[in-house]
Amino acid sequence: MKKIYSSDNIIMAGHIHSLLEANGINCHLRNMNLSGGIGELPINECWPEVWVNDEADYSLAEEIITAILNKTDNNTSWKCSCGETVEGQFDTCWSCGNTNTGL
Ligand SMILES: [Zn+2]
Repeated sequence: MKKIYSSDNIIMAGHIHSLLEANGINCHLRNMNLSGGIGELPINECWPEVWVNDEADYSLAEEIITAILNKTDNNTSWKCSCGETVEGQFDTCWSCGNTNTGL
């Protein structure tokens, strides 16, 4: 097992976990219970963490996370399944109403 990601953003950690699982990577979350330990440990050791179960998946998981983070940071446009190109700041296609599934 190997830690692939940690963040103080519990939603982002959960999001990354579910996207990795959706891509066939076995992984799990740690430290999702933020009520415990804070004050006793350095705060960043209490952050939610995503771990890949099989280190063979690590580089693929890293690519997926990089793609997710780039997508979040940059407003790059994406192509909807209906064929329309949608500006990156919109999650939903203006033409057919589909949601960006990412990747
Ligand atoms: Zn569309």
